[in-house]
Amino acid sequence: MVCFAGVPSHRGSGVVKIITITGTRPNFVKEYAMNRELADRGIEEVLVHTGQHYDYELSEQFFHDLNLPRPNYINTLVKGSHAWETATIMTFIEDVLSAEQPDATLVYGDVNSTLAGAIASSKLGIPVAHIEAGVRSSARYNPEEINRRVTDVVSDQLFAGTTSARDNLLAEGYDPGRVHLVGDVLFDALRTACETHGIRQYRGEYDVLTVHRAENTDNEARLTAIVEAVGATERSIRFPVHPRTESRLKQLELWDRLQDFEHIEVLPPLGFLQFLELLAGCHKVITDSGGVRREGYMLGKPVITLIDIVWFPEIVESGWVRIADAHDWEGMASAIAEHDPQTERPDVFGDGHAARRIVDILSQTYG
Ligand code: UDP
Repeated sequence: MVCFAGVPSHRGSGVVKIITITGTRPNFVKEYAMNRELADRGIEEVLVHTGQHYDYELSEQFFHDLNLPRPNYINTLVKGSHAWETATIMTFIEDVLSAEQPDATLVYGDVNSTLAGAIASSKLGIPVAHIEAGVRSSARYNPEEINRRVTDVVSDQLFAGTTSARDNLLAEGYDPGRVHLVGDVLFDALRTACETHGIRQYRGEYDVLTVHRAENTDNEARLTAIVEAVGATERSIRFPVHPRTESRLKQLELWDRLQDFEHIEVLPPLGFLQFLELLAGCHKVITDSGGVRREGYMLGKPVITLIDIVWFPEIVESGWVRIADAHDWEGMASAIAEHDPQTERPDVFGDGHAARRIVDILSQTYG
């Protein structure tokens, strides 16, 4: 049964109560930044894990490494289609929200858990705060693009990480009073992790490769071309393989082909701190990830993206992030070999204090 949350019972106590929805690897990294800030500022946080990522390497390892509290609610999700996954998570979150009656629901980024949390919350009349609002590309078919746009529509507070994200929201007619340019919490997470764990940034000898987007893993021609391109470069490459990518590589008999290349070191998916250390000491970054391309840029690495979707136009315009066509292995191989930007690298993602600004606004609005 759906029950409307109404006015939270703890209203007037002066304590703001937030429910945070997490479910995937990129969410856990951002929660690392937000969790600390919420706790430091005395905001009560109820942490929800939707179960969207449940493999140890993509989930539990992050809670352990990043010292995140055990979630108050954990869903055990069985994988299915996008609609099934979103609907299942939505009903799970609806029960949690109805029981907890928070002042607001915090959602991150663009995964199915984000969409499910935003819809369930807004239909219960609980305000939604979206971190990473306003990121747009022209790829309307892309599942994350759909999640992002719909989440923004039902969100009450829209936290933009970059000026282009803020401008996108304003151009779409969002109320400027609800749009806040705060910086990227991923930069906060990276900055804090590097400082806390003494991770040093230097230009090493190897490149880092990550591939996990459905556009590449679910397309045989593209995945084959990526393997051939990295094979042809003969550069030293370290490749932590996402579970989805590993199973596709095996299905397509590309896994053995990859092992044939002595210059490519195939690794399991790494915990955030280990991965950050790998990135901080690499030469170049080759990726189709939205997060890893930003982290590569933040750490001053030339980045080659293996998907022609531009999510953060500033970093492409700066010349540091180059888009390669994943259909064309020769083009990709030469982009990887040649990309060596000498231009300025502007600060695009703020000053590493986005979480503080977000908590300021949440406290003022819901306190
Ligand atoms: N990441 C990690 N270990 C890895 C690969 C990535 O910890 O082996 C982190 C990375 O630092 C980034 C996040 O996972 O913060 C990005 O997740 P992913 O690429 O899965 O998703 P996207 O950012 O494309 O949504």
